[in-house]
Amino acid sequence: MLLSFKYKLRPNQQQSQKLIQWLDMLRANYNWCLRDRIDGWHQQFICGDYCDLRTQVEITPLTCGITKGTQLANPWKEGGGKAQKEGYKDTSPKRSASLMQDANLQELKEARPWYQSIDIGVLQSIPARVNESFNKFFKGAGFPKFKRRHDFKSFSYKPGRIKIKGNKVYLPKIGWLRFYNSRVIPEGFEIKTVTIRQKVDGWYISVRIENKDIPRFPVIPDSEIKTITGCDMGLGKLVYLSDGSAIDNPRFATHKKAKRLMRIRQRRVSRKQKGSKNRSKAQLRVSKLHNKIQQRRESYQWDVANRIIKRSDAVVVEDLQIQNMMKRCKPVKSESGRFLPNGQSAKRGLNSSIADASWYALTQKLEYLAVKSGKKLYRVNPRHTSQTCSKCKHIDKDSRNGEKFICTNCGHIDDANLQAARNVKVKAIETYKLNIVKKIKSKMVRRDSSKPVQLNLFEVELYERSSVNTLPLKGKRRVGENPQGKQLSLWDI
Ligand SMILES: [Zn+2]
Repeated sequence: MLLSFKYKLRPNQQQSQKLIQWLDMLRANYNWCLRDRIDGWHQQFICGDYCDLRTQVEITPLTCGITKGTQLANPWKEGGGKAQKEGYKDTSPKRSASLMQDANLQELKEARPWYQSIDIGVLQSIPARVNESFNKFFKGAGFPKFKRRHDFKSFSYKPGRIKIKGNKVYLPKIGWLRFYNSRVIPEGFEIKTVTIRQKVDGWYISVRIENKDIPRFPVIPDSEIKTITGCDMGLGKLVYLSDGSAIDNPRFATHKKAKRLMRIRQRRVSRKQKGSKNRSKAQLRVSKLHNKIQQRRESYQWDVANRIIKRSDAVVVEDLQIQNMMKRCKPVKSESGRFLPNGQSAKRGLNSSIADASWYALTQKLEYLAVKSGKKLYRVNPRHTSQTCSKCKHIDKDSRNGEKFICTNCGHIDDANLQAARNVKVKAIETYKLNIVKKIKSKMVRRDSSKPVQLNLFEVELYERSSVNTLPLKGKRRVGENPQGKQLSLWDI
């Protein structure tokens, strides 16, 4: 089982200065590696053609020139390390770009001795990180970007490098750091990769721990799913569930109070002189508020996700394209070429509400919890879920009127959002062919007698008491004996 625990670090002043220094140096190295890869690609990109066979560029393998592009010398693996081990099959005699950059770290340390103060594992993770971002690019993500100080905030140690003892953690080349030991690492777990991250309110450490003896929960097969909950994400309420309940949306960033506070703090930034210390102080206050809002949202979403997952064997959500939902309205032009109002100003408010609800993050949490507890999360196409009548399956845009849903075909009346949640559930059952047990609503039946008996309004069942002593010894007045020897009546108690 692989888990991830997060703690807040308590570095002293020297240590936090060192951490900041490391970040700067690592960032410089990251940018250098990225520049090297880009230049390498441009050199192989001859006459607008990057097919190696046609351009006949030397020392490039027959694979894509982009992945392997770097300007560093010595692209061949020299027998050593893993290659010498028995049974290890090396598929390519050539080093990949990230391996070449990795080998080049030796020279970097000689040229810039201050890099020796960084742990080697951390330094080696940088070319790997550049490589990873290129791999993502080849799979369809954006082109890797050069990192600036604000978007390079973390570095990681390789497995088995750090030690934890009580409320102290040992980071190689930095030393023992104190941290808030908010949750104990369970016994038998091994510490894997450790990431140090700088946030507005300090440094954090996230520890990945693994215990191979504990198996992951087996995922429940489709045939065994008995109960299922459909979810429809919304703004008025955060989640509408198919059983008719809904979960509140606290609007952490867009409720009136938060918006006002944010506006005030941002105004304070804008009125300070550019580049001044006061401005950066004010800016810090803005980012602290952002951080606080985000932390609140995170914690709330974990709570919500837990509540939803616990309900049933499986959960269904809509596969929303949130990026498309948050697109700007298309500009409208009149015949004379002037721009007409296109409703963007109203859309802006909606967009910020959508961003605040962060449905995607909630879905991710649902997915994580589902895997962790051996349950299942289904995604269905959101098409027509809010326009279909759950009774007669009639699809009509006009059926929905704001919060209300009135079917134009059969006249079925329902809450529009709850209706949609029910449709999502039905859609999942149909697309994945699930066998859901239907709940039979039991009628209220008198249990105490076979025939209903009407009790007289004034008829009260009385229990006879033989003597005072058998009365329950309860209440202060019953404690001790009766001094006058007076017989207590039932009402004296
Ligand atoms: Zn209908």
